[in-house]
Amino acid sequence: MRILYVEDNKALGDAVAKALRVNGFTVDTFTTAFDAEEAAATTPYDAIVLDLGLPDRDGMELLEALRHAGVASPILLLTARDAPSDVIAGLNAGADDYLKKPFNMDELIARLRAQLRRVGQPLSIIFQEGNVNLDTSMRLCRIDGRDVDLSRREFGALELLMRRTGNVITKIAFEETLYGFGEEVSSNAIEVLVHRLRKRLVAAGAQIEIHTLRGIGYMLTRGVS
Ligand code: CA
Repeated sequence: MRILYVEDNKALGDAVAKALRVNGFTVDTFTTAFDAEEAAATTPYDAIVLDLGLPDRDGMELLEALRHAGVASPILLLTARDAPSDVIAGLNAGADDYLKKPFNMDELIARLRAQLRRVGQPLSIIFQEGNVNLDTSMRLCRIDGRDVDLSRREFGALELLMRRTGNVITKIAFEETLYGFGEEVSSNAIEVLVHRLRKRLVAAGAQIEIHTLRGIGYMLTRGVS
């Protein structure tokens, strides 16, 4: 789940982005309406979290511009404004939900999940390959019925591979899915990640194999173990 997050307050922005990542979202944070609008035009986001008080443009104008441009993702407003008229204006302008600042992080995440469910995002996708079972909503990996502990990125990498078993997943695709926009990714980060994931799978007796296609990417196939 990729979230576009617009917030000009650096400290708050970092804290919220971190909380979202811990909860399994990929987050692209922008501090201006200009950058956010550009990103929304080129990247499909599952949801947008939008602060109304932005330095370069009113968040309400950005909201209208996004809807006008055909962006259909759920939009949740964060507002320090108290007046009910602002909330009503926001909802009328195409927002799906709003939270007043200061807000509770768990509530933000719960509301986001509720929005994602509403737009028909599947509640749970389960991938099964050999003896490996991956439940994307519960974020559970089971091998031979036993839970296997995976880090957030290891889980994300395995999900990406299992979604397209038998197909090559490029290094770029891994980076784009597992890291936020503008986040530093060291040149061997994906190699290291896949190496760790492979070791965990082997240790748990997984009947799948991750093949390295040098210079191209990775591919998952059913194997014997
Ligand atoms: Ca602000």
